[in-house]
Amino acid sequence: MYPKTKVPLALLICFSNIVVPTRTHQMEKQYSCQYCNNRFKNKNEAERHQNSLHLRRHSWSCAAIPDFRAAFYPSSSVSSQSPNGTLSDACGFCGEEFPNFPQPDWERRADHLTNVHKFGECNQAKKFYRADHFRQHLKHSHAGQSGKWTNNLENVCLREEAPSEATGVSPTSSEGQGPASLPGQPDVAMGGVHDP
Ligand SMILES: [Zn+2]
Ligand SMILES: [Zn+2]
Ligand SMILES: [Zn+2]
Repeated sequence: MYPKTKVPLALLICFSNIVVPTRTHQMEKQYSCQYCNNRFKNKNEAERHQNSLHLRRHSWSCAAIPDFRAAFYPSSSVSSQSPNGTLSDACGFCGEEFPNFPQPDWERRADHLTNVHKFGECNQAKKFYRADHFRQHLKHSHAGQSGKWTNNLENVCLREEAPSEATGVSPTSSEGQGPASLPGQPDVAMGGVHDP
């Protein structure tokens, strides 16, 4: 025989631990990160945080541009459309147009990239896990000007990242090197991303 009060008391204590009275406070930031204790006011913020800090499914880097030619795109401006093809290519950094006929002057285009956009002069190991951070980089390090042409460049620089769910990566698992990784390209491990 045990005293009647014993069991209800234990239950009471138990319940009081479960029902934490911070509900009203949490309502302000009701979206929580699935991976850490951070809380956010809206869903977008939470998703952006998760994508950039935890999931990292995509990254952008200048090193992903396979060749300087890949920084040029068939111009989408009306004046350069013709039945024979696109009359000019646009620079992926600033949108300046370069004629394709009689033939593309690649030397001039290379000069443009080097002189105007400091092509290849940034830290090639640097990776960006958010598109807006990469756009900032294009703007500040490469005199980039946002426009429809930068979307093309973003696509070229975009890489799928191997899922990084597991923190302890076994030494045998081959980390997915992007298809365009060049020989002699520095390893990505140094690419410091300290953004909050
Ligand atoms: Zn988190
Ligand atoms: Zn760069
Ligand atoms: Zn340009």
